[in-house]
Amino acid sequence: MTTLLNALRDLLGQAQVLIPQRATDAEFSRYQTDWRGRYQGHALAIVRPANADEVAAVVRLCAQHGVSIVPQGGNTGLVGGGVPDESGRQVVLSLQRLRQIREVDPANLSMTADAGCLLAEVQQAAAEAGLLFPLSLASEGSCTIGGNLATNAGGTQVLRYGTARELCLGLEVVTANGEIWRGLKGLRKDNSGYALRDLMIGSEGTLGIITAATLRLYPQPKGQTTALLSCTSLSDAIKLLQAARADLDAGLTACEVMGRLPLQLVQGHQPDAAKVLLGLQATTSDTTPAAWTVLLENASNESDEHAQQRMQTVLQMAMDSGLVQMATLAVNQTQQQAMWQLRESIPLAERTEGLMVKHDIGVPTSAIPDFVREADQAIQTRWPQARIVCFGHLGDGNLHYNVQPPPSQGQGIGLTTFESEVNRLVFDEVMRHGGTLSAEHGVGRLRVEEMGRRQSVTALAMMKAIKLALDPGNVLNPGRVLP
Ligand SMILES: Cc1cc2nc3c(=O)[nH]c(=O)nc-3n(C[C@H](O)[C@H](O)[C@H](O)COP(=O)(O)OP(=O)(O)OC[C@H]3O[C@@H](n4cnc5c(N)ncnc54)[C@H](O)[C@@H]3O)c2cc1C
Repeated sequence: MTTLLNALRDLLGQAQVLIPQRATDAEFSRYQTDWRGRYQGHALAIVRPANADEVAAVVRLCAQHGVSIVPQGGNTGLVGGGVPDESGRQVVLSLQRLRQIREVDPANLSMTADAGCLLAEVQQAAAEAGLLFPLSLASEGSCTIGGNLATNAGGTQVLRYGTARELCLGLEVVTANGEIWRGLKGLRKDNSGYALRDLMIGSEGTLGIITAATLRLYPQPKGQTTALLSCTSLSDAIKLLQAARADLDAGLTACEVMGRLPLQLVQGHQPDAAKVLLGLQATTSDTTPAAWTVLLENASNESDEHAQQRMQTVLQMAMDSGLVQMATLAVNQTQQQAMWQLRESIPLAERTEGLMVKHDIGVPTSAIPDFVREADQAIQTRWPQARIVCFGHLGDGNLHYNVQPPPSQGQGIGLTTFESEVNRLVFDEVMRHGGTLSAEHGVGRLRVEEMGRRQSVTALAMMKAIKLALDPGNVLNPGRVLP
């Protein structure tokens, strides 16, 4: 290994090859421990190349020495795919020094950015050109565009603009044998062979290392508004979504749902973020959130006032028809931000509350009420003291369905047993309703076993054939995605 480390230092310079002595080295924890603190790995080295040529040279060196590579962006992933294993034999390849916005092309509504640009920087560069890059996640201040594409990230605007895949026109990728595929074409149409770009997107660093991307931009909407509404049931929330879609059409950019418990956690751990709920309460004495709170967002190509008027029509209809008990409309940007802050505070409030067994499931939107009712019932019959934190992207049929273990099973072997039983119950329900075990976070390490159990044999065989063809030496992120 000394030969490899020396060669990496010669290539990148001493300062860009970090050597952690152990997994718990605090100095390197941001590279070795995942955001949730669930996986703590130990890397042979953390390398920080500055451009695609250096990335390619690192891949060639590691392949020659039989050392595998874990690509890493902002390390905000939630399935453990971006941190090394515990062996001390993997190299973490951080993309964070690839940080240039290469070009904004307003006439083509596109932008080319290095993989290590933060999502917020990409959004900002688009805004400075008077345009919109609509991908939006609560982690946008720390995640990278390369990581977003590697995980095919979703977020809050999928209803209108699609996932990261739909927002990508071209890619530059370093292959497992250390060559560079330069596919940065800003084309809407390109049928010249297999869709390599789409193969790379969502492959979680197992098929290639993304070094840059050409992204699809949109005109900035001229007006926007947000509303919070309270519903007594998920069926009513779905009917509300249908009505809002019919009325607002493509203007409807987001539809998020939050159960009572996640909002109570925000009230407990981030009371400032929860203040916006006061607008939904009939009296100041009752601060209990509704069974379900829905956040709707509407964009207009005319003005804020126009967006508000159209949203007002939807709110009125929903109140008149009894789908909604209370509703509040944001009349300025501060109020809009406060409503989004409520939604985006949930993951942190959950983390503060303690360990949860998490699921990022997707089912057809129409199946959501039955899925939640049946999964809740199965869990609460088995563990009456377990608590269910359910929220997510209602418009996309994507729920974060998380379960807090009862105190008796909060650690050790009890927790391991609890986790595997809860997973079985939840994924059985998901599959019965025609859903997926990962809607937007990916497979990483967390869902590898479940892939083996739940993915079709034919699909797995095709995926393994692709992996073998593109990375025969298993250099790129082994043990992730495929069992
Ligand atoms: C508070 C919070 C909220 C979140 N909300 C959402 C949400 O709404 N929707 C959503 O989809 N996700 C969400 N996430 C998850 C996470 O932010 C996304 O998965 C994000 O896309 C990961 O980007 P990253 O740069 O941090 O990637 P990392 O965590 O560094 O890596 C993720 C995976 O991609 C691979 N990878 C990273 N960069 C590259 C590259 N350049 N080339 C090849 N492979 C690479 C890694 O090996 C790993 O397998 C959230 C996370 C947090 C902490």
